[in-house]
Amino acid sequence: MKLMEERIRRDGKIREGGVLKVDSFLNHQMDIRLYQEMGKEFFRLYERERVNKILTIEASGIGIACITAEYFDVPVIFAKKSKTKNIAGEVYTTQVESFTHGKVYDIMVSKEFLGPEDRVLMIDDFLANGSALKGLAQLVRDAGAAVVGAGICVEKAFQPGGDLIRGMGIRVESLARIKSMSVENGIEFC
Ligand code: 5GP
Repeated sequence: MKLMEERIRRDGKIREGGVLKVDSFLNHQMDIRLYQEMGKEFFRLYERERVNKILTIEASGIGIACITAEYFDVPVIFAKKSKTKNIAGEVYTTQVESFTHGKVYDIMVSKEFLGPEDRVLMIDDFLANGSALKGLAQLVRDAGAAVVGAGICVEKAFQPGGDLIRGMGIRVESLARIKSMSVENGIEFC
């Protein structure tokens, strides 16, 4: 998606360690016009897939998931990063390793909101090592629901997440795919 690439080039800030800061339009301040274009594009890509739920992970996926859900006219579920363990039985849960914080944490979704009748589109802001998306796919599969695919705003294609998730047989559509990125040489898209 040209618009997304242009915006990353203009306003993205490259940090050490392969981190792209997009706080001015995606991750902190949110450009809702851009979000609408992203939502429309995810809808165009997946409209024939009979998606009936959108799943994301708190916190940074929630905004884009909600705007996308307007086009599909379906509910959004966000996986919670949980601290309490005593809810086992009522929730689907798995572990995710945070790329930006380097910590492992539990994520969970209540069994009330996902089941075998569901066809789920997963949405997230970034795809890096793939841990977040793999965790979401695990929750969907544990619920007996179908993973329709994933919609990602920015895929860092120089990290292994894209290959990992596609290798699991999951369709991944990314609006911008970064081939390489460095403070010295800037950003190259795929
Ligand atoms: P993964 O699980 O694929 O390694 O990382 C995905 C998650 O890490 C995303 O939900 C996102 O919040 C965060 N993330 C990964 N890489 C970046 C990055 O370069 N910039 C920002 N802002 N977040 C990132």
